[in-house]
Amino acid sequence: MAGAFGFKGSCQKIRGPEIRNLLEAKEFFLFDCDGVIWHGENAITGAPKVVNSLIRHGKNVFFVTNNCTRPRENYVSKFYRLGFTDVMQEQIFSSSYCSALYLRDVAKVQGKVFVIGCEGVRKELREAGVPFLEEDDPPDATIYNCALSPDVKAVLVGHDDKLTFLKLAKASCYLRDPECLFLATDNDPWHPLRDGRILPGSGCLTAALEVASGRKATVIGKPSRFMFECISSQFRGVDPAQCLMVGDRLETDVLFGSNCGLDTMLTLTGVSQIEEAEEYRDSEHSPNQSLVPDYVVDTIADFLPAFEDQD
Ligand SMILES: [Mg+2]
Repeated sequence: MAGAFGFKGSCQKIRGPEIRNLLEAKEFFLFDCDGVIWHGENAITGAPKVVNSLIRHGKNVFFVTNNCTRPRENYVSKFYRLGFTDVMQEQIFSSSYCSALYLRDVAKVQGKVFVIGCEGVRKELREAGVPFLEEDDPPDATIYNCALSPDVKAVLVGHDDKLTFLKLAKASCYLRDPECLFLATDNDPWHPLRDGRILPGSGCLTAALEVASGRKATVIGKPSRFMFECISSQFRGVDPAQCLMVGDRLETDVLFGSNCGLDTMLTLTGVSQIEEAEEYRDSEHSPNQSLVPDYVVDTIADFLPAFEDQD
């Protein structure tokens, strides 16, 4: 549809009637969360109204997040707490949930999963019925004397704020077996915190293991297509041409949209700036074109006027 408006890959700032036309033309809206609809525990001004209005106007809204730290049921309460009162659990696709689906339905892993990750990952594996190894090393255990389970058939890496050298070492040992799957919830390098601080993301843990094992992880989260496949397998009639992917990070959200054949929109309330998008657009290196959004808005609150005379 963007082609019809002449905006495909143009990184075009849109407003007013152009936004209204786009919202009317699309049936499926995929939103990244952090930097798009909220910053941590604060909703972006106007975002709850935008999301609730889209849902009330019969649009299909999904959330695709690489944040694997909380299970989907915790997301539902967060959505509600921040004012997104119309969001249901079925609309939320997190990298931990999709990793569990991948292990169960695609890899059909026979045996246990060794997890580097936090409770969000474990909870989703438990919900999906994917067996994983519970950590039970004594405090003085080292890689020289710890137990290694012969049942481990997959290593799953995600954000882990309790990462230890022993966990890394054990995962590296399991990955010596070429039959052992190597999966990462996502490959995000870092996440912004307040005051210019950052939080290292899952990507840096995956990188450590890739170096130690000499192998490449299969990445489940954006920009990989798998989350979109999860959505289309659970909801009928999800046509890429009818979808808009809205995100704040070119290298994950916009690339994900491009990889899945969706129109893409960058919102400037998060990580990426319009100058970076324009640099990709003007670059001679053709793979960079997949990182160029079709549309740019300052904030998704720019959608609000489109609903005003309809509500
Ligand atoms: Mg984001």
